[in-house]
Amino acid sequence: MALASTTRTASASTAGKLNFYTPAWAGWDEHVVRWSSYKAPTFSAVFLPETEEELSEGIAHLAKHRIPYLATKIAGHGNSPTLGTYQDVIQVNLKHFRNITINPENTVTVGGGAKWEDLIPRLRSAGRELTVGSFPCVGVHGVMLGGGMGRLMGTYGLTSDGLLRMKVALWNGTIVEASDEALSDLFWAMRGAGHNFGVAIESTLQTWPDQGGLHYNADMVFTDESLAGVLTVANRLIRKGLDPAVGLVIGYLYNLELDKPVLMVNIVYAHDEEAGRKLVAQFSSTTTETERPISRVFLNETVLTFAELGSGDALPSVCRTDQYQNLYTASSPTTFDVDAMIEVYDSYGRFLREHPAANASILLFETTSRHRIDAFPDDHTAYPHRGRLGTNAIIQMTWKNDRISAAVDRWAKGARDSLAAPAVSGDQRPHVYINYANADEPPAAVYSYDPIRQARLSALKRKYDPYGFFNAYHPIPLHPGQWNLLREGGWWSIPPFPRACPGQ
Ligand SMILES: Cc1cc2nc3c(=O)[nH]c(=O)nc-3n(C[C@H](O)[C@H](O)[C@H](O)COP(=O)(O)OP(=O)(O)OC[C@H]3O[C@@H](n4cnc5c(N)ncnc54)[C@H](O)[C@@H]3O)c2cc1C
Repeated sequence: MALASTTRTASASTAGKLNFYTPAWAGWDEHVVRWSSYKAPTFSAVFLPETEEELSEGIAHLAKHRIPYLATKIAGHGNSPTLGTYQDVIQVNLKHFRNITINPENTVTVGGGAKWEDLIPRLRSAGRELTVGSFPCVGVHGVMLGGGMGRLMGTYGLTSDGLLRMKVALWNGTIVEASDEALSDLFWAMRGAGHNFGVAIESTLQTWPDQGGLHYNADMVFTDESLAGVLTVANRLIRKGLDPAVGLVIGYLYNLELDKPVLMVNIVYAHDEEAGRKLVAQFSSTTTETERPISRVFLNETVLTFAELGSGDALPSVCRTDQYQNLYTASSPTTFDVDAMIEVYDSYGRFLREHPAANASILLFETTSRHRIDAFPDDHTAYPHRGRLGTNAIIQMTWKNDRISAAVDRWAKGARDSLAAPAVSGDQRPHVYINYANADEPPAAVYSYDPIRQARLSALKRKYDPYGFFNAYHPIPLHPGQWNLLREGGWWSIPPFPRACPGQ
C-alpha cells in the first residue's frame, strides 16, 4: 500500500482520499506518543480519519489488504503488555472523534476518541453525572470497553452499566449500531470485552442529576506504624458495608526527600460533606493505648466539584507520557489482608531505595460499595466479576531506564503474587479486571472460568472478528477448546496479526 507522508493526500487508489501519514510527517511524534513505552505497540503509519465514512473506508481498505491496525488516540493509556504484540501496525487515530453531546433526554453521546477531560467538564456544566475514570488523560472508551471502574461507581455501577447504545465499525469497515434492541449480542460483548470486536465510533450513556455536584474529599497521610490501624478501620467499614457514596483509596507513594514510602488515604464522599467528615474522623490519631495505633500527620478536607474530582490534580504526574509503566493487579472479594499489606509496604520501600529510577511507582488499593454493580445479574454484560471484586490492588510501576525493566517486573509480579495468594486474597483462583490486567494471568481469570461464558465469547469473536483484527488487548480465543490450553501467559499463543482472510 502506498502511503502519503504529507498532509491530505490519497494513499492507494483503492483507499480514496484518506489521511495516512508516515514517520516523515512533522506531526508524527505528537501522534504516536504513548503513556507507556514498556512493551508498547509501534506504528508504521498513522491513519487520521475525520469522519465516520473515512473511518469506515480506511478500515475496509486495511482489512482488504490484511494490514493490521490499532484504534487509539494521542497518548493511549493502555498498558497491557499484550499491546506490544502489535508492532509496525497502522495506528487508527481517533483524535477527530472527541465529540461530546449533551442530549435533551438526559443522556450524553461520547465520541470514540474522547478522554475523561472532554466529558467531565461538559457533564458538570449540564448538572449531570455518571461513573467516570479517575484520571482526565485516559480514554473514555478504553476504560468503558473493559467495564469502567471509577468515581461514583458505588452509586451508578460501572460506566458500561449506563451504556444505552454504541456505534461500532466492524473489522471490515461496516458500521453498525448495537443496543438492547439491535445486535444485542455485540452490545453485551462491548461492555466488558469490547476491545475485541470493533472500533467504537460513539456511545450514548445514561446520566443522573448531580445533586449540586459537590463532593467531600479528604487526603490523609499517616506514619508507617499506622498501617495496621488504618487497614483495621478500612476493613471494619467494608464489613459494615460501605455507603455507595464512598470511594476509599489507600496509597503507597515514595517520598524522595525522606527516601522512604509514605502511607496516604483518600476518601471521597459524594454529595454529603457531613457524612464524609464523620467517616474520616474514624481515621483520626488514636488517643488511647491500642495494639494498632493510628498517627495521622496530615489531613486536608475539601469540597470539590465533580470536574475537580476528575481533574487528576491530586497526582498530576500520573498523566505524564513516555515513561516506562507496568501494571499488576490483585483483587479480593472481601477485605484487605493486614499482614500481607504491611509486607508489601516494607518491600516497596526496600525495592525503591535500591532502584531510585523507579521511585515514581505507586501502589493503590481501592474499595467502594459494589452493591450497585452486583445488583445486575452476572450475565448482564461481558464484565465477568460481579460479586467478586471487593478490593483492587493496583501496582503501578513507573521508571525511566530500560536497564531496570526486568527487576521492576520481577518485584511487581512478586508483590502481586503475594497479594493474590488464596490465603491472602480469599479467592481460590484469581479474578482480574481486564483494564488492570498484565499478561501473565490465564485468560479465564480475566474473562470468566465458566465454560459456557467462554464458549459465548469465542462464538462472538468468530462472528464479529473472525480474522483477529482486534487481537491487541487480551485477545479472546476463537475456539472454546483453546481456553484450557491458554493457562499462564496464554495470550501469546493467539496470533497478534490478522490471519488469512479473503479480500472483500
Ligand atoms: C493513569 C491511568 C488511570 C486509569 N484509570 C482507570 C479508571 O479509573 N478506571 C478504569 O477502569 N481503568 C483505568 N485505567 C486503565 C484503563 O482503563 C486502560 O489502561 C485502558 O486501556 C486505557 O484506554 P485508552 O483508550 O486510554 O488507551 P489506548 O491505548 O488508546 O487503548 C487501549 C485499548 O483500547 C482500545 N480502544 C480504545 N479506544 C477504542 C475505541 N474507541 N474503540 C475500540 N477500541 C478502543 C485500543 O484499541 C486498545 O486495544 C487507567 C489507566 C491509566 C494509565
